[in-house]
Amino acid sequence: MFNKHEKQEALEILNYQIRSCESCSLSSTRKYALTGEGNIDARIMFVALSPGAKEDLNNRMFIGPSGQVFNRLLIAAGIERELVFMTNLVKCMLPNNRKPKMSEIEWCSQFLDEEIALIQPEVIVPLGTYSAQKILQKYHVAELEPQGSITKVEFGKLVILKGQKIYPLFHPASLLYNPSNEADTIEKYKKLKPFL
Ligand code: SF4
Repeated sequence: MFNKHEKQEALEILNYQIRSCESCSLSSTRKYALTGEGNIDARIMFVALSPGAKEDLNNRMFIGPSGQVFNRLLIAAGIERELVFMTNLVKCMLPNNRKPKMSEIEWCSQFLDEEIALIQPEVIVPLGTYSAQKILQKYHVAELEPQGSITKVEFGKLVILKGQKIYPLFHPASLLYNPSNEADTIEKYKKLKPFL
């Protein structure tokens, strides 16, 4: 268990490692490797897939179109962005929004593991299929295929695996294509309020 000062120091070291990482080819197309952002004592940790173009350009989490949706969902659900911690499964932008390769997820998820160990959130909220599969695999390898299976992820259902609460939700970007799902998504975000 870390005190706040130790946690901050460990996170700064980790963030330095992320920013200077060249372990996979995404380092050659990114501008920034994005580190996690938010309250280091957060009880809720959101895990998105990767930075978008605007995030890559400005070195900030969730400031592009998906981020605008994310902010809207948080406000509608009464969750202050300053109280949560946000990070990505893959820290560097995926060119042209292509899908991540399994090797990229494997390389990069070591950073996510360390962020989780430092922040120790009460509930992890993976956003989208890739993050959800990786988090579910991390806590419950036996029940998932190595490559994961979309049918195994139940979005909007809280599960507790090895003592860790996990609440997978669709990525906010999905509302850019299916805006009619927004009201239902807000209700799902509201279920996070008791964890604040
Ligand atoms: S995606 Fe992750 S593993 Fe690849 S270069 Fe960026 S930080 Fe390193």
